[in-house]
Amino acid sequence: MTFVIAQACIDVKDKSCVEVCPVDCIYTDAEDRMCYVHPDDCIDCAVCESACPVQAIYPHDNVPSESVRFVEINAQWFRNKAAARAAVDEIMPNL
Ligand code: SF4
Ligand code: SF4
Repeated sequence: MTFVIAQACIDVKDKSCVEVCPVDCIYTDAEDRMCYVHPDDCIDCAVCESACPVQAIYPHDNVPSESVRFVEINAQWFRNKAAARAAVDEIMPNL
């Protein structure tokens, strides 16, 4: 399993999750609007879930239906950052 960051993180990105993750598997670059969990490195400890001030983080098998696309977007960022960023902008246009 892995944990997944969904749209509530977009344009919040306070990195509380990054600070508490024991294996440093939550990533973001300056140009990103959100953070992303590495699906292979996450150890499912759930520490990030309670640290998030906007409840943006879910176990991947319990993501709300409106956020299911973020399971793929989190993984995609590690293969193709531009594609993941485009998907985020499509879901929440950057006005
Ligand atoms: S569940 Fe644990 S290991 Fe996975 S991203 Fe969150 S803090 Fe990191
Ligand atoms: S703690 Fe929540 S809002 Fe903050 S960067 Fe992590 S997922 Fe985004």
